[in-house]
Amino acid sequence: MQYVTLNNGVMMPILGFGVYQIPPEQTEQAVSEALAAGYRLLDTAAAYGNEEAVGRAIKGSGIPREDLVVTTKLWVQDAPAEENTRRAFETSLNKLGLDYLDLYLMHQPFGDVYGQWRGMEAVNREGLAKAIGVANFYPDRLLDLILNNEITPAVNQIETHPFFQRIADEGLMREHGVQIQSWGGFAEGKNDLFTHPVLSEIGQVHGKSVAQVVLRWLIQRGVVTIPKSVNPERMAQNIGVFDFELTDDQMAQIAALDTGTTLFFDHHDPEMVAWLSKRRLDS
Ligand code: NAP
Repeated sequence: MQYVTLNNGVMMPILGFGVYQIPPEQTEQAVSEALAAGYRLLDTAAAYGNEEAVGRAIKGSGIPREDLVVTTKLWVQDAPAEENTRRAFETSLNKLGLDYLDLYLMHQPFGDVYGQWRGMEAVNREGLAKAIGVANFYPDRLLDLILNNEITPAVNQIETHPFFQRIADEGLMREHGVQIQSWGGFAEGKNDLFTHPVLSEIGQVHGKSVAQVVLRWLIQRGVVTIPKSVNPERMAQNIGVFDFELTDDQMAQIAALDTGTTLFFDHHDPEMVAWLSKRRLDS
């Protein structure tokens, strides 16, 4: 496994396992299988409803806590967000059955963002979250957060895949020491990603699948990636990407697939902002 070092010295595997859309009743098994396959970075969120199952899999694995990098995410909070963030953090930690978190991310750039960030800074300073970061922050919001707060996010987890590559966004993040992490690295299979002719042809050259080509492309860019699968064979396939290298020409062929637009949520679309902001979790 290859690691990246975050802006506060925390080490993070460049490839991990995401559990979005895995139903809670399937999550313990999926995470147990992922841990057995060698994954050490786990990515969940309060909003996914499966933190307890992730926690059970961690406990059942017997893997030393210090070998794991566990991420969860804060959902949108109302004011007073600093206090609400503390409460939400403690709820997540309890559900996961952990006494500290490796990475705590603000899930959306909405709600009382600055109150939320101050609450996150507090748990970071107390060592309860080894690193804090954000998700779904476009450059304007990210820069404003960086310039007007004490702690710079260690990570920004954003939609990043061959059809939406985020090259300019990544440049700004690197300038400010923010690690880019990809969500939806396979675009959840949209645009027929898994049978795309360019990606398939590159895969054939290396004797690798399209999924492996995409993950390798992200890793060679230095992007942390967290593919999701409930299928043990695919879990093994997705972590088997450290024994080949894409050429500059192959990297350039994939670079040409960028459309520059989201295939999921447009965080600038007022309807999407309203929809995401309306949602509140119980805890
Ligand atoms: P993804 O990883 O792009 O795609 C997952 C899909 O690909 C699943 O349908 C999976 O099916 C399939 N798949 C996985 N490996 C495959 C392989 N080797 N060959 C063929 N198909 C394969 O989608 P994602 O789950 O949306 O994104 C990854 C993680 O990012 C999430 O789990 C979550 O942790 C995080 N995320 C964060 C945000 C955010 O707002 N911060 C948003 C979305 C996602 P099977 O399961 O059947 O294998």
